[in-house]
Amino acid sequence: MARRQCIAANWKMHGSIAAVQHYLEALIDRVADDGPEVVLCPPYTMIPAAALIASGSAVAIGAQSCHWEEKGAFTGEIAPSMLLELGASFAIVGHSERRQYFCETDATAAARARAAQRAGLTVIYCLGETLTEREHGDTFAVLERQSAVLAGLDPARLRVAYEPVWAIGTGRNASPEQAQEAHAFLRLRLVALLGEGAAATIPILYGGSVKPDNAGAILTQRDVDGALVGGASLDAASFWAIIQAAPARARE
Ligand code: PEP
Repeated sequence: MARRQCIAANWKMHGSIAAVQHYLEALIDRVADDGPEVVLCPPYTMIPAAALIASGSAVAIGAQSCHWEEKGAFTGEIAPSMLLELGASFAIVGHSERRQYFCETDATAAARARAAQRAGLTVIYCLGETLTEREHGDTFAVLERQSAVLAGLDPARLRVAYEPVWAIGTGRNASPEQAQEAHAFLRLRLVALLGEGAAATIPILYGGSVKPDNAGAILTQRDVDGALVGGASLDAASFWAIIQAAPARARE
């Protein structure tokens, strides 16, 4: 089965309801069903407005995390079913900023991913090594450990995002060769965890300072099936340029 490219925007803690409306008005008519899958993940408060505008279009709306329980005494958290109610169909899980600033671990990220899928959300599962880990030659060991969770997830509602932590928000992207090397490792890992058939269907996105001027070189690597874009996704024109850099054809 073929894999479609997926280009996802992570707005982090930026934007406003008015900004998301303008942004989508500029974008939705250009995004076609037969191009890459396009997902916009704004802050929670903007999801209803985004979902309303994107309804019936080829742009899907996602959240940037979700809790692993359906309800309970978890002040400040949000349940997957609440995100569905707002109009989200995707959730980013395990982002390195969650790991770095909010005590996210492999175990909590795994629990969030399972809960998100149980509720019907598609998960963009983030993993990647820090600079120290890369410099110590531990990149593949880290990816192996962080990807163990993927064995228990539904491949049909899964996107994997390789995000080397040293490249996120730093302006320092992985070279196309570094991205390809890590993606090829993750592809083999998916085969080992889920079998060849399922592994072939799961898009592996690259994330880390993707911009219009480097997107083409990264997105055309053999095992790169899309991008998770932070800073450059805040501007509709630059996000559109990145979408256009994605190869149109589906990968086998
Ligand atoms: C991200 O937040 O997932 C990301 C990749 O950010 P940036 O593109 O700004 O490096």
